[in-house]
Amino acid sequence: MTDSPPDLLTLPLSEVFGPTIQGEGPAAGRSAWFLRLGGCNLACSWCDTAYTWDASRYDLRREIRHTEVQEIISSLPMEVLVIVTGGEPLLQQDQASWRELLERLRDRGCDLHLETNGTIEPNAVSRALVELFVVSPKLANAGSHRGHQQAGLHPGWTAVAQDGQAELKVVCTSASDVAEVRQLADQVGWPRRGVWVMPEGTTQEVLGARWPVIVDAAATHGLNATHRLHVLAWNEKRGH
Ligand code: SF4
Repeated sequence: MTDSPPDLLTLPLSEVFGPTIQGEGPAAGRSAWFLRLGGCNLACSWCDTAYTWDASRYDLRREIRHTEVQEIISSLPMEVLVIVTGGEPLLQQDQASWRELLERLRDRGCDLHLETNGTIEPNAVSRALVELFVVSPKLANAGSHRGHQQAGLHPGWTAVAQDGQAELKVVCTSASDVAEVRQLADQVGWPRRGVWVMPEGTTQEVLGARWPVIVDAAATHGLNATHRLHVLAWNEKRGH
């Protein structure tokens, strides 16, 4: 990743793409544009966007470009659903460029959703400007993370969920994962109506095999289940 120029409002941009369909979670099926930022504080073994953070496998100087907010804004249409994702986008939330980006997208009539791994509490700017946070804490199935970083859910999220501004979306590989999600939600006081489980997998074959197990367990535990519609349609093809 290159250093940011000092006087410009920039963000580490991985990619902007759309129009496409939000494939998973509470907004599955909605027409959307994705704005993906670089950098992550975790290192999940099955990460499907490792090109945003994994310098051992990708040339991050090519993958991530510090981009002026104005340029990012001008690559997105007005009045669309914009999903800010990563990597971990909340790593940027204390920068002036973050507020600038979110305010200008809202001014252009966009709905803003944000996808996060849940390790960082949203600050006042993020809470004021993001309509819905989709929080995806990682279970043991994600493996260990760099520098022994803990993947646990920040306790500050529960209040956001109870205000109806955050939903939980967790990748599961088995019925016991789904049980673990329910236990986590109950432990932290996250309303079950705002909890979604989905099968892990980046191919139609893997998803197809896991979906019946995950949806059955979700029904048993009173949780929502979401498929991964973009994988069903396009497999792992980047840009969808
Ligand atoms: S938190 Fe998300 S972006 Fe970061 S390593 Fe895990 S799956 Fe990948």
